[in-house]
Amino acid sequence: MILPVLQYPDPRLARKAVAVEEISPRIRALAADMTETMYAGDGVGLAAPQVGESLRLVVIDISGPERREDLHVLINPVLTLSGEELSADEGCLSVPDYSARVTRREFAAVRAVDLEGRPVAFNASGRLAVCVQHECDHLDGVLFIDRLSRMKRGMLDRRLKKKAAEHGR
Ligand SMILES: [Zn+2]
Repeated sequence: MILPVLQYPDPRLARKAVAVEEISPRIRALAADMTETMYAGDGVGLAAPQVGESLRLVVIDISGPERREDLHVLINPVLTLSGEELSADEGCLSVPDYSARVTRREFAAVRAVDLEGRPVAFNASGRLAVCVQHECDHLDGVLFIDRLSRMKRGMLDRRLKKKAAEHGR
């Protein structure tokens, strides 16, 4: 089932999510729905808070909705970052029609649990490293636009305000 994706400035996107305590049928169904929603939205990652569930669960597939070859379902992920600071273009299903360069670390060592409750550990670099950092930020209530310079963020907020005023009434 494709789920509605919350959009900035929905306050639920700014909340810190809680750990998944048990991999129940509800969690499995949520992960399946999030995966479907991610592919339908042409996204490469989606975090549970984006669909209104304040849980530490993310789905990622940087191969994209056409290939669907590299799906990661990560429960309670923890990242250890290393390497240089690099900037790359990012977008987000919760911030439609906007992308900006964000600075992140080059490598992310990922530890999580999968849907079977098995421990998962891998080292991410390149686009995958960017994506896991972006998605795990959502679990702490942080959006990529929170990492922009004050000037860039101000420009975006003014643009969104104008758009809201145009479509608001
Ligand atoms: Zn996002």
